[in-house]
Amino acid sequence: MGVPTLACHCAVCESSDPHDERTRPSLLVEAGGRHIVIDTTPDFRTQALRAKLDRLDAVIFTHGHADHIMGLDDIRPYNLKQGGAIPIYASAETLAILRRTFAYIFDDAPTSSTLPGVELHEVNRQFTVCGIDVKPVPANHGPVAVLGFRFGGAAYLTDFSSVPETSKDLLRGLDHLILDALRYVPHPMHSNVEQSLALIEELKPKHAWFTHICHDLGHVDANAKLPENVRLAYDGLVLESEIA
Ligand SMILES: [Zn+2]
Ligand SMILES: [Zn+2]
Ligand SMILES: [Zn+2]
Repeated sequence: MGVPTLACHCAVCESSDPHDERTRPSLLVEAGGRHIVIDTTPDFRTQALRAKLDRLDAVIFTHGHADHIMGLDDIRPYNLKQGGAIPIYASAETLAILRRTFAYIFDDAPTSSTLPGVELHEVNRQFTVCGIDVKPVPANHGPVAVLGFRFGGAAYLTDFSSVPETSKDLLRGLDHLILDALRYVPHPMHSNVEQSLALIEELKPKHAWFTHICHDLGHVDANAKLPENVRLAYDGLVLESEIA
């Protein structure tokens, strides 16, 4: 829901620490001058302005929930500037949600408006985008199938409640693991702090970063209770990793 959460006046929502201001979760991967965004959130435009994103080469989607897709229409300035469609990578299930949610992009109805230009690619196994090898990591998000993604030494796994054993094998030997940890209290669709710490203990990445954090966790307070190699991610956080 983002933090501050609308109409909430809790200590975290009213915090003056900029780390407690959380837009919806997304990742920008930059390598060799190419830019790939994972998930176009309802905050995509704000995030792209903040990151001074002048070029967008591809979009990868983890799943089709509103907080991960609703910014798709805002890729239009990149279509205009770059003069072409932008490749989109997602599972068949997520592509179906995109086609339904953004029917006006795909219905071929005559229009005088600018439409987002997209080129859909279904993802099942390892794929290459902008010369970068990307490994999809299937996980469960309650009853919804989601994809995490591994790029060399880093992996992004937002919105999951459990990770199958076969996917755990794709998440070993990481420098950075960015993973869902919604709150302390268990949730049917999301990993909580305790569950994510157990997964980190099992996978042993060098560094782990919590994302998709709700207003139950204050940046300073929550960090103080975590092991040294586990931190809360925050808006604008930049990590470096080997990608090849
Ligand atoms: Zn709050
Ligand atoms: Zn979700
Ligand atoms: Zn989400």
